[in-house]
Amino acid sequence: MNIILFGAPGAGKGTQSSLLVETLDMFQISTGDLFRAAIKNKTQLGSQAQSYMDKGQLVPDSIVIGMVEEVLASKKVDFILDGFPRNVSQAEALDGLLQKLGLDVSRAIFLEVPMSILSARLTGRRVCKSCGSVYHIESKPTAKFGVCDNCGGEVVQRNDDKEDVIATRLKTYEEATSPLKDYYKKTGKFVAIDGNRSPEIVFSEIKRQLSN
Ligand SMILES: [Zn+2]
Repeated sequence: MNIILFGAPGAGKGTQSSLLVETLDMFQISTGDLFRAAIKNKTQLGSQAQSYMDKGQLVPDSIVIGMVEEVLASKKVDFILDGFPRNVSQAEALDGLLQKLGLDVSRAIFLEVPMSILSARLTGRRVCKSCGSVYHIESKPTAKFGVCDNCGGEVVQRNDDKEDVIATRLKTYEEATSPLKDYYKKTGKFVAIDGNRSPEIVFSEIKRQLSN
């Protein structure tokens, strides 16, 4: 069972991916993690990606697909793609890659959360500068204000979690994603799940969809 998990920033993809990894023994492929690992390990694709990022440019799809291919070719377990594909051209490239590898995606699960809720979730988000632990001022505060529970590092609001930036991020996301939803609707793999509920309820709904 291979799945694509998508939804706006703040929709809960990270949380649901972790639950799937823990309980169903799936393997999570997040493009953010792939970038970090490739750059840290100085792979060829990693250095190429780095050169684009240094110039403040988007990493081209061909490089992202190359990284996804390296992982898929080496991991023969059920996978969750988290944060990828982001648009139709990436989805088409992914389909080509899966076909080449003899793999398939059974569900494209969209976590649906209203814009106003997403905005509140994101503006309250705080991140540790040292270890990357994620907190939320209301739903998951640190024990001591501004200090990471995990490593004692400084916990801050990322620039792209500030309110005006968030409005732009969500709008950009929405524009790229509507065609992506249509793409997966056509293949009959699309499933929308109401993500505006507790993580446990959302997760049981995902499991129910996977067993259908
Ligand atoms: Zn930390």
